Amino acid sequence: MSDKIAETTFPGAAELFSLAGRTALITGASGGLGLAFAHMLHGAGAQVILAARNEARLAAAAAALGERAEAARLDVTDDASIDACLAGLAARGVVADIIVNNAGIAAPKPAIEQSAADWDAVLAVNLRGAFLVARAAARRLIAAGRPGSIINIASILGIRVGSHLASYTAAKAGLLHLTRSLAIEFARHQIRVNALAPGYIETDMNSGFFATEAGQAMIRRIPQRRLGTPRDLAGPLLLLASDAGAHMTGATIVVDGGHTVNSI
Ligand code: NAD
Repeated sequence: MSDKIAETTFPGAAELFSLAGRTALITGASGGLGLAFAHMLHGAGAQVILAARNEARLAAAAAALGERAEAARLDVTDDASIDACLAGLAARGVVADIIVNNAGIAAPKPAIEQSAADWDAVLAVNLRGAFLVARAAARRLIAAGRPGSIINIASILGIRVGSHLASYTAAKAGLLHLTRSLAIEFARHQIRVNALAPGYIETDMNSGFFATEAGQAMIRRIPQRRLGTPRDLAGPLLLLASDAGAHMTGATIVVDGGHTVNSI
């Protein structure tokens, strides 16, 4: 080790991962993982903006977080609603510098039964929506001359496939490549763009399925023999959001208990 490196002082974890002074906007944050992400970022010191369509649920979720939390109406499929949300913040001098593209939907059914409307709806939220939010947020950051971190919530279904989820897997695979494309373009503006690809995470929405025989069989295919929990995503999320991940852009962090490396 050269003397120069040996003499370097490295910050402690609290300083490295601190989000004090940052403002995080999380889409689809009225429940599920989005709300958990809001709690994680808030816990690291960020001001959080919970953004989604259901204002009543959002307001209650923001109130539960207390100080440094607020709700904002935002539909990721509607460019005007995204602009209105960010303009409303800008009018108060607030620029979101951590963006979590979390809003997502699926239309689980066999491909031959998927309608054009099913396909469009899934792509509109998971892929087009993430692009519109990232683009709008980056425009604001660039105009303000501020650095930022955009985190796209993908899925291991963007890397491997599962049946009856053709539109979802295609959208998430597209989101991973969009992450890399935006990373190249935004790097010169000090805006990082990364993806988090969770495996199966137990939430209120899917716990019923994982209690069934089919669900239990799926868990047996995960090398760690367990589902992920929202808490398992906290470290990777904070790494991407904070200066701890300052040199990371265009990366995908897989958090899946080894699911994507299971034996063939
Ligand atoms: P969820 O259904 O509980 O949450 C999705 C959220 O997105 C909801 O709050 C919903 O209202 C919001 N949303 C949908 N359409 C929207 C729109 N047009 N505008 C704004 N918000 C909209 O699902 P979740 O399990 O919490 O999933 C969150 C994200 O994590 C999704 O992108 C999902 O694909 C991804 N993911 C989840 C898992 C898992 O196991 N739960 C695994 C991998 C990836």
